[in-house]
Amino acid sequence: MIKIVNAFKNLISLFYPYSCVACGNVLQQNEQSLCVNCLLHLPETNYHLEKENPLQLIFRGRVPIENISAFLFYKKVNQVQRILHSLKYNGNQEIGEFLGYYYGQQLIQQPDYQNIDCVIPIPLHYKKLKLRGYNQSEAIAKGLGKAMKIPVYTDVLIRNTYTDTQTKKSRFSRWKNVEHVFEVQNAEPIFNKHVLICDDVLTTGATLEAGISKLLENNISKISVVTLAVAH
Ligand SMILES: [Zn+2]
Repeated sequence: MIKIVNAFKNLISLFYPYSCVACGNVLQQNEQSLCVNCLLHLPETNYHLEKENPLQLIFRGRVPIENISAFLFYKKVNQVQRILHSLKYNGNQEIGEFLGYYYGQQLIQQPDYQNIDCVIPIPLHYKKLKLRGYNQSEAIAKGLGKAMKIPVYTDVLIRNTYTDTQTKKSRFSRWKNVEHVFEVQNAEPIFNKHVLICDDVLTTGATLEAGISKLLENNISKISVVTLAVAH
């Protein structure tokens, strides 16, 4: 039944492209991607307000992180799931950039996030990029960079190994799977900088840790992490 409802919703969105990504209601002229009601009721973590938040534990003892936060709580059945699905599989880069900008405006109010110099999205392998047409994390990074008035670098960290979809792998093989997938090909812009690495969803942290480890090999000063959502 849910499948039929979703299929119907997808069909509707073909004819009415300006509908809310989360609830499907038609957007008013002053609304973008999400209706005001959904925007006001997003399950925000507010983790950026506390330096010692639960996300710090994910990387403790693994890689040194300055700040870490995720904008929203992700559950299998909440509106964040629909937002992420739209961002990842329906070609909706706008929602990524929009929410990145929305969260960036909150981050920049916090002293912890005011001395960040640049944003680097977790890259996709070029084959996957070709398949999808865009990198969903880059869309979020663009929004963050615009709100925080800092550059976004997409040619510093690159992905050199094609990894299969990770959903069915065990936690251990996920960590192993991503250990050597990243490479830094142009370290000049990040020399001595406080880098913000960003991704769409934080789950085990394996992918992010692999990216962070690579960046840390290149004389950066600090690294912080922001994701659009965290599994809850
Ligand atoms: Zn809505």
